[in-house]
Amino acid sequence: MKKIALISTPWPLFNRPSIQLGALKAFVKEKLPHIQVDSHHVYLSIAAALGYDLYAKISESTWLAEPLYATLLYPDRADTIERFWQKRYRRLGLVEKPSCQELCSKIKKLSSRVIDKEKWENYFLVGFSICFGQLTSSLWFIKEIRQRIAGIKIVVGGPACAGDMGKSLLRSFPEIDFVIQGEGELPLVHLVKSFEDSQGHAPEAAIRGLISRHFHTGPETVSQVPNLDELPIPEYDDYFKHLKSFAPENTFLPKIPMEISRGCWWRKKVGPKGRGCAFCNLNLQWHGYRAKSHNRAIKELEELIKKYQILSISFMDNLLPAKGLEQLFNRIQGVGKDLHLFSELRATTPSGILAAMGGAGMCEVQVGIESLSSMLLRKLNKGTTAIDNMEIMKNCEAPGCPNLTGNLILGFPSSDEQDVAETLACLEFTFPFRPLKGIPFWLGYGSGVFEMPDAYGIKRLRNHPYYAHFFPPEVLRGLRLMVQGYQGGIRYQNRIWKPVKEKLKEWRNTYMELHRVPGAGPILSYQDGRDFMIIRQRHIDDYDMTHRLHGTSRRIYLFCQTQRSMPQILSRFPGFGEEKVGPFLNMMVDKHLMFNEGEKYLSLAVPAR
Ligand code: SF4
Repeated sequence: MKKIALISTPWPLFNRPSIQLGALKAFVKEKLPHIQVDSHHVYLSIAAALGYDLYAKISESTWLAEPLYATLLYPDRADTIERFWQKRYRRLGLVEKPSCQELCSKIKKLSSRVIDKEKWENYFLVGFSICFGQLTSSLWFIKEIRQRIAGIKIVVGGPACAGDMGKSLLRSFPEIDFVIQGEGELPLVHLVKSFEDSQGHAPEAAIRGLISRHFHTGPETVSQVPNLDELPIPEYDDYFKHLKSFAPENTFLPKIPMEISRGCWWRKKVGPKGRGCAFCNLNLQWHGYRAKSHNRAIKELEELIKKYQILSISFMDNLLPAKGLEQLFNRIQGVGKDLHLFSELRATTPSGILAAMGGAGMCEVQVGIESLSSMLLRKLNKGTTAIDNMEIMKNCEAPGCPNLTGNLILGFPSSDEQDVAETLACLEFTFPFRPLKGIPFWLGYGSGVFEMPDAYGIKRLRNHPYYAHFFPPEVLRGLRLMVQGYQGGIRYQNRIWKPVKEKLKEWRNTYMELHRVPGAGPILSYQDGRDFMIIRQRHIDDYDMTHRLHGTSRRIYLFCQTQRSMPQILSRFPGFGEEKVGPFLNMMVDKHLMFNEGEKYLSLAVPAR
């Protein structure tokens, strides 16, 4: 028996190994120890040769990434693609302006070199993990490898192969033999095993979670590992070995990807058919939600750190477990290492968990903010409100808590002037916090909006028109792709969200200006003198403003560090009726020292240290 190859092509982040390849390799090795599994992080080779800065820029945008290998796949479309690519590239406002065709010929040379140095005839099966932005590069590598070794079998999997997308790839590209639908581990092992059992012949009988031209199993028959604790620890040896082979000027300290869970528990709670947030299609591969036990998560963390001698870990979970997070991060802190952690978070994460995360070494969190309008958040099925978002943005500004990054979705179908007005009103209070990034809405295949377009006032769903620049019409017709286009209110949406875009720019500039001096501290902070407190509000072009609160005013302000309703405040301070508390709170809101939504109030200043 020969060996199998697992490949990840450009454009994932170059500075971490592929968790998909690491998990699959470890699983196949454990179940079939006599099979050699080689994982090829092709993207790392291309990033090093192209230059990490340029690679990183391209990998940030699917519309910059996909056209490049499309030029190699369809050279007669080079001019059209060049025009499209230049337009997209210019929007980044970079000084350097590489020509797409020059870049493509460089990429072609580099990619061909990567292929030519491998003995593909030694592999009987090659697997491609296809995630966002990796479609055309995977297709090009598949074509090239198949051209060199006609009999080699190709299997693809990953989010870009879920449901109809995977079926359309199988229909449109004869070089692809099998498509994994859903989680990869079990179908891949069964596929390899069936090759063995039939002495190298492709399987004829159906395998759960796999489709081919000979047999078909529906998405309802995806095959998942029931208990994530049973998975072996991912293996990243090939990535580290590859990185070690680089010249010193090209090496760097990578981050290790790790997952504690798969899927999203929020989906079960909301949305028709449990689709969760209306815009989200992150969970096409998973059925339900599974999480590793704390013991297993800690063991994996410690082993990965020890084996690869790296202290930066990125948690890849779409959503960390709802329960026991504080205990988990306290245990991670107990590991006693100076870690540098990253993860995604729901906006409802309480300050106690944030503090535990900060203590464990969580430096950055990507929070699912998405909107600052409670009405729009309802349309998005986020299960959060503007004041929830304000609270986590505030909490992440406090010393010792992770830095927050987050997006604001602009132009969501069915959003209206009222949503925009609510957003703009809220933005008057966000200036002390880390700015959000405005992201134009994009329609993801399989998202709630995609499944129920009528409910969001859109129609005529089809592949996004940008794909027409790089796929020939006869190919595109048969494909179902990740980013979808639609009709319905796009111009209206662009128009009404313009003022929000402007406000976001202003916010970013102000925040940067006020943090120009390193160690300048939070923009809105307080020092507590125990029977009085001083609130300091920093301004550009102006003196800092200070406010002193005494006695009960101080105590109310501290009590509202977590959002509180008027009845909660009144029952905590029974000697003061609404006629006294109300004017105080309103004055604090007028001065932008507190935020209020409905009957809830939130203090916005964070401890100065
Ligand atoms: S955005 Fe996050 S919370 Fe919402 S459905 Fe997707 S993974 Fe779940």
